[in-house]
Amino acid sequence: MIYLILLSVPAAVLAWYLGSRFRGHWKQQRRRRLQAAPFPDAWRELLQQQFALYRKLPDRERRTLERHMQVFMAEKVFVGCNGMEINEHVKLLIAAQACILILNKATDYYPGFATILVYPETFVVPVTQRDGMVHSDMVSVRTGESWHRGPIVLAWDQVLQGARNDRDGHNVVMHEFAHKLDEENWQMDGLPILSDPQQYGPWKQVLTDAYQQLHRAMELDQPNVIDDYGATSPAEFFAVVTETFFEKPQQLQQQHPQLYDQFKRYYGSDPVQWVQRES
Ligand SMILES: [Zn+2]
Repeated sequence: MIYLILLSVPAAVLAWYLGSRFRGHWKQQRRRRLQAAPFPDAWRELLQQQFALYRKLPDRERRTLERHMQVFMAEKVFVGCNGMEINEHVKLLIAAQACILILNKATDYYPGFATILVYPETFVVPVTQRDGMVHSDMVSVRTGESWHRGPIVLAWDQVLQGARNDRDGHNVVMHEFAHKLDEENWQMDGLPILSDPQQYGPWKQVLTDAYQQLHRAMELDQPNVIDDYGATSPAEFFAVVTETFFEKPQQLQQQHPQLYDQFKRYYGSDPVQWVQRES
């Protein structure tokens, strides 16, 4: 009996190992097929008209974005809430903005969740505030939400506005998907998985300095390209700086050159080049 148990444990481990290798291989094959599928001209036309950042991208990066979008749209599940109709337009604009973040970085396409809930406009969620023994039930108005290891929730009017205006530093899709990148190591703390282990030291140093600088700027009422909401927590700081990096790259590079360099290394993209190319 003991021999049977001793033999069955390695057999189970081997079966699990082979199974995961096979699933990984099958997933890569399927993704390669999706990436190779033709990207319809009508989709390109829609992106040209409604996604300002797409117009700035060099051709090579546009094609890369389109390949990522094909996988993203096939793997994520879009669910309309409060009467919101899900069509190609909705999927395309969410996919395009989410995939800008992973355009030039190694990616597993936001693993750990699949569902994207879309409301027609800003939505309210019930929240309970506790102050000692006092509990207050309130509602909070949201443009987007990212649940830990769960769905992303987006307001469609904000998705549209984010796609059309790529200079105001606000983009709800980028913000919520930055949270998803942040939690790939199971913790949402402003410290995502970095490709080079040597990078963790400089990352922590530069982001901590910039986070403290933002707090000081707010106390002294001084202007800062990073939105005040970034001062809420290190996790919000990472998401807000991501929006700034893609939407106000030149200002971010001028005010916080080291921070810009850290984000450029992390995302593998250099949005200052995209803006310079356009002007
Ligand atoms: Zn957030």
